[in-house]
Amino acid sequence: MLGIGIDIGGTNTKLVVVTRAGKLLAHERFRTEASKGPASFLKRLAAAVACFRRDYGRQLVSIGIGAAGDVDPERGVLRFSPNLAWRSVKLAGPLEKLTGLPCAMENDANMAAWGAYEIELGRKTEDILTLTLGTGIGSGMILAGKLYHGSTGTAGEAGHLKIVPDGRPCHCGASGCLEAYCGSYSILARARELIKNEAAFVKKFSAPGKEKLNTICLTNAAAAGHAGARRVWAETGNYLGMGLAGLILVLNPGCVVLTGGVSRARKWFMPAMQKVLNHQQIKTPFQKVKVRISDNADLGSYGAALFGLEHGLK
Ligand SMILES: [Zn+2]
Repeated sequence: MLGIGIDIGGTNTKLVVVTRAGKLLAHERFRTEASKGPASFLKRLAAAVACFRRDYGRQLVSIGIGAAGDVDPERGVLRFSPNLAWRSVKLAGPLEKLTGLPCAMENDANMAAWGAYEIELGRKTEDILTLTLGTGIGSGMILAGKLYHGSTGTAGEAGHLKIVPDGRPCHCGASGCLEAYCGSYSILARARELIKNEAAFVKKFSAPGKEKLNTICLTNAAAAGHAGARRVWAETGNYLGMGLAGLILVLNPGCVVLTGGVSRARKWFMPAMQKVLNHQQIKTPFQKVKVRISDNADLGSYGAALFGLEHGLK
């Protein structure tokens, strides 16, 4: 039995074919081009699935979709996605009709959480919190071995926990959210406030041909000893620790998995983050929890495929 996993992002849509054991057999990606509308997107998605079916035939038994946004998993509807600028779009049902395969759909961070549970932890830890650290912050929870949805499917909006009263503006419209401090757009905005000459900074710390102020450039600067860059990462770790401390107190997870582009700067933000966790007054959950980083950039699509195999067939 093979499953197809689909990760729908604002820029790209990734597809994978994996075995029940999580072995990758094939992958494909195309530009989401959300502005062309859901009908065009579904047509291109179904065409990509049809290519896999030519290669794998009846071995393919299910599809799992992770989509960036607020998802109704029961009805397979993307209620709202700021990244795609879509509202109330039915995806799972139409894709089932177009492909003839059962289809399970979830928020993309939930699928990354399922991927962490199956692939990173081999189902050995049953209570897991996953944070996807990218432009924004997503989160998903596996509790007692089950994906936790909450009452409306929206559980896991940890990126919008308020950690600073009247703080920085967040993409969600509120202010002071965790994402407004630890999402890459905020990390870079705080860096810009400290860097005196951005052009010179970018030239010095970017890879040749990729001259841009991004989190990789900021990590290179920290590694080279730039005080401002190190300060930005330490502050990021401090804010992340504040958000995580609250989540760990509520959920008491056995493991926290951090993934996404920003997590590659672990060396520079983890010490400050760990310091906040070490200084909590209620010690037990913090002594027990393991924080680990997943460098698997396809955790979301792998997780979607495995989740589809587990749940799409029911
Ligand atoms: Zn927010």
